[in-house]
Amino acid sequence: MSQQLQSRRLRQPIVVVLGHVDHGKTTLLDKIRGTAVVKKEPGEMTQEVGASFVPTSVIEKIAEPLKKTFPIKLEIPGLLFIDTPGHELFSNLRRRGGSVADIAILVVDIVEGFQKQTYESLEILRSRKVPFLVAANKIDRIPGWKPIDTYSLLESIKSQRKDVQTQLDNYVYRLVGQLAELGFNADRFDRIRDFTKTVAIVPVSAKTGEGIAELLALLAGLTQNYMKTKLRFAEGPAKGVILEVKELQGLGYTIDVIIYDGILKKNDTIIIGGLNGPIVTKVRSILVPKPLQDIKVVKTDLTQIDEVYAAAGVKIYAPELENALAGSPLFVAENEQQVEEYKKIIQEEIASVKYYNANI
Ligand code: GDP
Repeated sequence: MSQQLQSRRLRQPIVVVLGHVDHGKTTLLDKIRGTAVVKKEPGEMTQEVGASFVPTSVIEKIAEPLKKTFPIKLEIPGLLFIDTPGHELFSNLRRRGGSVADIAILVVDIVEGFQKQTYESLEILRSRKVPFLVAANKIDRIPGWKPIDTYSLLESIKSQRKDVQTQLDNYVYRLVGQLAELGFNADRFDRIRDFTKTVAIVPVSAKTGEGIAELLALLAGLTQNYMKTKLRFAEGPAKGVILEVKELQGLGYTIDVIIYDGILKKNDTIIIGGLNGPIVTKVRSILVPKPLQDIKVVKTDLTQIDEVYAAAGVKIYAPELENALAGSPLFVAENEQQVEEYKKIIQEEIASVKYYNANI
C-alpha cells in the first residue's frame, strides 16, 4: 500500500456524513462500505479503525457507466469515510482553524426536505469551512419510482416515467430553494458548470444503490480537482486527531486516531492532549482490523502493523493513555525541541477540547 500511495503522491480525502436523524446516514455508509467490500480487488484493504477505505479501483468500477458524462482520471488512492455519522464525532475531527474532514456529505431525505439537524449540520460545516455536497436520499420513495439494478442515477432516471422525473425535479428544486435561503447556490450535479460556486445535489437511494456511482465519482473528482494542495502527501512525521479513547480488555487504554498527514511508525514519540495537560508517550503498537470478507462482522479482531501512511484510521496502544482526550491533536516529535513545540501547541488547543469532553 505504501508504494502505491507514494507513487500517486496524493492522500485519500477524508469524508464525513452529516444530516438529520433517520434521513439515512447509516444506511448510506453501509451501502458504500458494502459495495467497496464486494467490488475491491483481492488483497485490497477496506477496513480501518473508525473509518472505511474505498479504493480507487472500486470507484472506477462503479463509475464505469459514467465515463462519457464524467471523464475523470483518478490520481487519489481512494476515499476514506469516517464510520460514525453525525455531529458528535464530527466535533472530534477538529484541526487548527478547521476540520480534518476534507469534504462532507449532507444527507437529506428528499421527501422530508430540510429538518432541524440538517440546518445544524450546515451551520457546523460552514463554521469549520468544510465543503459539502448534498445526497438527496430515498428517491425510491418518490411515488411511482421503479428501482432498477444500477448504481447510476442518470441511467435509472432514463427508465422512470415522465411524471416521476418531474416529481424528482420538484423535490430537487425545493432543496435548491432551502439552500438558497441559507445563502448557498445549489443545483442538481449534472446541471452545474462551476463546482467551486455551486453546491452539488445528488439524488440517491441508500436502499437500492441508485446514485451511489455519481456520489462517489463526484466526491473523488471534486476533492482531487480542487484540493490538490491539501491532499499532497507529506512524507514527514504523522499528524492526527484522537477520535476516541477506549479501554481494551487485557491491553489497557488505547486511542483511535485518524492520521491525516505523514507517516506513523511503531516506537514514535507522540504528543497528545490529556486531562491534566499534554502527554508525551511512545507508540507500542499500531493496530488495524484483520482483513474481513464480511462487513457485518464486528471490527474487533485486530492485527499489528509497523507503520501507516496518511490518511488512515488506526488504534494506538501506548503507556499513559488513560487521561487522553478525544478531539485532541496528535503529533509525532523527532527530537526534544519538537516535543516542547508540540506541547505548547497542544496546551493552546486543549482548552476548547476539554470543554467539549466535559459536555458529553
Ligand atoms: P440515520 O439516522 O440518518 O442514520 O438513518 P438510517 O440510516 O438509520 O435510516 C433511517 C430509516 O430510513 C431506516 O429505516 C432505513 O432503512 C431507511 N432508509 C434509509 N435510506 C433509505 C432509502 O434510500 N430508501 C428507503 N426507502 N429507506 C431508507
